[in-house]
Amino acid sequence: MKSIYSVAIDGPAGAGKSTIAKSVSKELGVIYVDTGAMYRAMALYLIREGVDADDAEAISKKCETADISIDFIDGVQQVILNGENVSGLIRTEEVSAMASRSSANPDVRAKLVELQRKLAAEKSVVMDGRDIGTVVLPQAEVKIYLTASSAVRAKRRYDELVAKGEQCDLAQIEADIIERDRRDMTREISPLKQADDAVLVDTSDLGIEEVKNELLSIIKEKVG
Ligand code: C5P
Repeated sequence: MKSIYSVAIDGPAGAGKSTIAKSVSKELGVIYVDTGAMYRAMALYLIREGVDADDAEAISKKCETADISIDFIDGVQQVILNGENVSGLIRTEEVSAMASRSSANPDVRAKLVELQRKLAAEKSVVMDGRDIGTVVLPQAEVKIYLTASSAVRAKRRYDELVAKGEQCDLAQIEADIIERDRRDMTREISPLKQADDAVLVDTSDLGIEEVKNELLSIIKEKVG
């Protein structure tokens, strides 16, 4: 096996990237870098600063004063915003909506891509996001494009929310997912798309263990 290697996992929201990336990284004994959490931390900062999601100039200006870094506690990524661990504050619908908009901003992306590349240069990583195989780590040894139908992704999200005791509407969740996909796939900079050399894995009809085993066998084949 190479001493340092990168596994890039991209795909739309709800395809199971983070669940799978976490368990694959554990199995490989390398760190898992969740780049969505960085965009979420930036979104939280912009919300706190009262920035309008449609004001590109204000987003560009404000993002200069957001210092985002990551840390690991017991192997679990923590995202730090200006010295504060905000990992527990970034999974709300409000943050999701702002992250989906502000991630289209070139200054936000430039800042976070730099951090992501630095992490991958230092250590082996399993990194997930939307543009890891295409833009952040085009030389990654392994590239996976993980997807699932919007209906399946919405149902998974619905079940998660119901398990947490939250009231929700399945049709609305699917509509939100489709809209977020549209924004990710059609933005000018680093749109979500499968890299030419990525392996496509559709998780619609697969369980977590099956996806994990499929990825591990792809990784083994590519990095030895
Ligand atoms: O993956 P997650 O849903 O946590 O990502 C939050 C948002 O950050 C997404 O809606 C997407 O727009 C953005 N994102 C991105 N590029 C990445 C990771 C996430 O644009 N590499």
